[in-house]
Amino acid sequence: MMGNNKELGLLYQYQEARRRLAACEGAIADPEREKTIAGLRDRVREAETAAESLEQECARLKRENRQLEEECRLFEAQLGELETTLYSGRISAPKELAQLQRRIAEYQKAKADREEKILDHLYQLEAKEAELALAQKKKTKLQRQLEAAIEAETKRVNSLQEQRAELEKELSSLEQALPENLKEFYRRSANALKGIVMIPVENGLCGFCHMILPPAVLEKVKRGSAELTVCENCGRGLFYPK
Ligand SMILES: [Zn+2]
Repeated sequence: MMGNNKELGLLYQYQEARRRLAACEGAIADPEREKTIAGLRDRVREAETAAESLEQECARLKRENRQLEEECRLFEAQLGELETTLYSGRISAPKELAQLQRRIAEYQKAKADREEKILDHLYQLEAKEAELALAQKKKTKLQRQLEAAIEAETKRVNSLQEQRAELEKELSSLEQALPENLKEFYRRSANALKGIVMIPVENGLCGFCHMILPPAVLEKVKRGSAELTVCENCGRGLFYPK
């Protein structure tokens, strides 16, 4: 005898647990979710790079301004010396005086140029700092989104892994309870029948393809027989649910 109705019911349970396990494993490795998180990760990286380059730009402007201010101080010191010489009355030759005045004018112009550059840098810096504030805000927002997405995904996967462990436990105890010939039948037919090798009779119909089962077949299923009774239409093993 292929198996009594109770054993056929166990095989059905086994098959259903296998199907839930396959679905569970499919859900754990969900490429769409992985893609979403990878996309978010890319956006965070982009935002980080953007903020970083603005930070560097701001730092560069500040550094250049410190350099320019230092140059201004040097020009000022030199101008001070030149003016002291000019007003000291020590130089009286018109040619030398003219030369001195020319140098003073040159230094004043050089200092004014730097001062103008400093102002220009300060305007640029103001704009860049505003951009940087926005970029950092965007970066923080995206980082939080990514953290939340990872947390939700971790939770989802953890709960699925718990389910998987439960299903594996259930499967191994069912496997122990099942007679060898039923397991063999399952192994042989599972692929061809797409994982559904047993189906309960439902109101006299095959529970899978809904074909009306002849009374003789129903009787055979009820009584049990040496051969597993299968649906003539879809080839699946039949049993009465508890
Ligand atoms: Zn059928």
